[in-house]
Amino acid sequence: MIEKFMVKILMLDDEPFMLKLLARMLANQGFTSVALCESGQAALDRVDGLDTRPNLILLDLNMPEMDGIEFVRHLVERNYTGSLILISGEDERMLQTVEKLVKAHKIMVLGHIQKPVKPEALSALLEKWVPSPLDSPQVVQKIYGADEVRAAINNGELVNYYQPKVAVATGKLVGVETLVRWHHPVHGIVPPDQFIGVAEANGLIDDLTRVVLTSALAQAKAWQDAGLVLRVSVNVAMDSLASLDFLDFVTGLTAKINIPPQQIVLEVTESQLMGDARTPLEILTRLRLKRFRLSIDDFGTGHSSLAQLRDIPFDELKIDQGFVHRAWTVETLRAMYDASLALARQLGMEVVAEGVEDRDDWDLLLRTGCDLAQGTFVSRPMPAADLPGWMDVWQERVRNGFANDISR
Ligand code: C2E
Ligand code: CA
Ligand code: CA
Repeated sequence: MIEKFMVKILMLDDEPFMLKLLARMLANQGFTSVALCESGQAALDRVDGLDTRPNLILLDLNMPEMDGIEFVRHLVERNYTGSLILISGEDERMLQTVEKLVKAHKIMVLGHIQKPVKPEALSALLEKWVPSPLDSPQVVQKIYGADEVRAAINNGELVNYYQPKVAVATGKLVGVETLVRWHHPVHGIVPPDQFIGVAEANGLIDDLTRVVLTSALAQAKAWQDAGLVLRVSVNVAMDSLASLDFLDFVTGLTAKINIPPQQIVLEVTESQLMGDARTPLEILTRLRLKRFRLSIDDFGTGHSSLAQLRDIPFDELKIDQGFVHRAWTVETLRAMYDASLALARQLGMEVVAEGVEDRDDWDLLLRTGCDLAQGTFVSRPMPAADLPGWMDVWQERVRNGFANDISR
């Protein structure tokens, strides 16, 4: 439940009738701070004012003078930290495109509504409002320097988390994906987005991958000794595949720890920095000959391509989460999801859908015969020690057909 008195709403629409209608809906839903503007300039004046600055803007896209997209550009110039709801008579696909565009500017979009606006649709989006993290200075995202990341790798501050991959048809736990975290002595748990890029840009990614892989394989062995045979996936940047050392390292480590290569999955994405593609191709093919499993990650995004599918003998295809969550209801997503699934089928690959966040997503996978699911509906990434406890809960949920899940 949100604190309604904290939400300072500004509505921008060139039609006075629309403004009145929305104002009434908002009042009925208990929102007390609502300003109405008929022009972009009037709205920007309020954004500029210290006392009048909103933290939620309901924005009509189609306006005669300054249109909604131009308005957003002005918001960006003003470092607007609040949220946005887009409203328009345009079709769903157009609204989605604009939503993406706005998000690319790092403005929080709660969602979009097609006119005519229904009170339920509006209230569902308003429920998503949260105070901007950017307004509280403690949690500003930090970008780390190469020296700090290097030290983290060398000092053993990187910790592996594991996220389950389960069979959709049976609910059986098939494997886990290794996702690295940095246990920072001062800042706590730092997500990979805040240091992987730094590592890649500074020639540290190879060292990072080796550290992650070494503890992932040790963990796989520990699970195996405890009677739990799991496929363990590790993310490997193409850059790491540019040297023959890597091949020797992986095969040597696997032999030393005594894990069958079939149990190791290497998830590969194309990186921007990729130069000569021949060495990675050779290394991947040789890894495959040695029976390691190869997975093409983030399929459907700029990080992977049809050319890779043609050239590299992948065993697994991961449909990017951007095409999975809500694909059951959004036509364009559904088209991408279906096409990826069909392509993988045709090429005889196993398919993993990422970003399975709720029961509706799960049901789509079930209906369409997707092999494996990964996402918050199943579990967030967790430390290895939490896996047994999670398995108990998960088995119970599967047995009940998810009947006791709190939300649908
Ligand atoms: P990825 O390989 O695509 O990993 C999946 C990301 O999606 C993970 O983010 C995971 O926590 C998140 N996720 C899982 N389920 C859901 C869901 O239902 N909804 C949504 N919205 N997200 C979900 P994380 O752990 O923050 O990792 C981000 C990226 O960092 C990874 O994306 C991967 O590209 C990279 N990464 C993580 N660990 C490593 C590593 O050891 N080496 C390399 N090279 N890259 C890594
Ligand atoms: Ca991955
Ligand atoms: Ca992915």
